[in-house]
Amino acid sequence: MSKLAILGGTKLREKPFPAYNTIGKEEEEAVLRVLRSGKLSTYLGSWHDDFYGGVEVQSLEKEWATFFNSKHAISVNSATSGLYCAIGAAGINPGDEVIVSPYTMSASATAIIAYGGIPVFADVEKDLFCLDIESVEKNITNKTKAIMVVDIFGQPYNSIEINKLAKKHNLIVIEDTAQAPGAKSEGKYAGTLGDIGIFSLNYHKHIHSGEGGVIVTDNDEFAWKMRLIRNHAEAVISAKGYEDKKELNNMVGFNYRMTELEAAISREQLKKLPALLEQRISNVNFLNEKLSSLPFLSIPKVRKNSTHAYYLHSIKYDQTVTEVPRNKFVDAVKAELPPTLLREDSPVLLNYGYVKPIYLMPMYKERIAFGEHPFNLTDREYKKGDCPNCEELHFETLIVNELIRPPMSQEDLTDVYLAFEKVWKNIDQLK
Ligand SMILES: *Cc1c(COP(=O)(O)O)cnc(C)c1O
Repeated sequence: MSKLAILGGTKLREKPFPAYNTIGKEEEEAVLRVLRSGKLSTYLGSWHDDFYGGVEVQSLEKEWATFFNSKHAISVNSATSGLYCAIGAAGINPGDEVIVSPYTMSASATAIIAYGGIPVFADVEKDLFCLDIESVEKNITNKTKAIMVVDIFGQPYNSIEINKLAKKHNLIVIEDTAQAPGAKSEGKYAGTLGDIGIFSLNYHKHIHSGEGGVIVTDNDEFAWKMRLIRNHAEAVISAKGYEDKKELNNMVGFNYRMTELEAAISREQLKKLPALLEQRISNVNFLNEKLSSLPFLSIPKVRKNSTHAYYLHSIKYDQTVTEVPRNKFVDAVKAELPPTLLREDSPVLLNYGYVKPIYLMPMYKERIAFGEHPFNLTDREYKKGDCPNCEELHFETLIVNELIRPPMSQEDLTDVYLAFEKVWKNIDQLK
């Protein structure tokens, strides 16, 4: 018996875990190249060659499209902006319904609200955590226009069945791929499995430029509209012979433009993605093998014919074995472990659950967004019990672990395992 750190015992490890820092000489040189050129962004919000952005922006888009084997790639200043562009281009109008996962970052659903659409939350799969096909089907009405799928934690969504269902009901599939760059399903990259895919380049994601995002699509019409929405659509729409009034729909523009600096960094980051992903996968495999010896944990399952990008390592916890609630157990494991460099001020990168099911956020429960808009266009209410699988994961069984990021070594990963093992061996101290 050794006393658990949470009860005043000695921590299993004091030495911090290594920083996840993908920025190196390559990015430094790319930024200097842009700075010295004096052209930090060349976008113009009027009809002109520079409407599509500068050299770095356009090069990034070409390289991104080639890498992901997509006809178009459109850079934006965040994945959130990308989601807004996608909902706009999909023609979502006030009162239209969009089916979305409740277990995702809030922006997946807020993008729908921004266009007056009504988010309809379908439940997630118990073991794969993406939108559940049966629940999606049950939620389709004559108002449904699109499905917002999310490749949560790096797992590609059930593209075979959801795409088939979407086709049957004439729905657009928008894929939030912020957490799954490089994941694959059925031989295709996540992001290209639906009609429009959105990647994130924010600081916390696999690869980043501080802030940023890229949208991919094979559809020319969507691509054109998203490029307009990105850059003051209303001011340029007449330039392309879009006099037909109905084409003005959703052609309210924003400024979602990426700078040359971020684009130059992103070009270098994209080159690093395959190696970073390979390390993540081998780290997860190493840790999974160790953790699977513990009878109360289930290591993450991967969808058939797919590869997982492991943005987060998602483990399931069985309280009936430990007889200790998950949160208490996780707090005890965290107490054994050190912080991670560059994130010294954050708690240990291990947590119970992900984010609260989105429909439990005050905006939905109170039905207040832009004043009463758009909830005054629907009778739908949002309440506890709406998505039982999601709630069980969040409140009882899911553990998410970020301690799998490169350059975590096998020794570092072994310490993560040993912290779980120590708490398990001394579980009676928690009862
Ligand atoms: C990070 C994230 C976003 C938002 O990305 P930003 O680039 O920060 O706007 C959207 N959806 C999911 C699932 C995410 O993880």
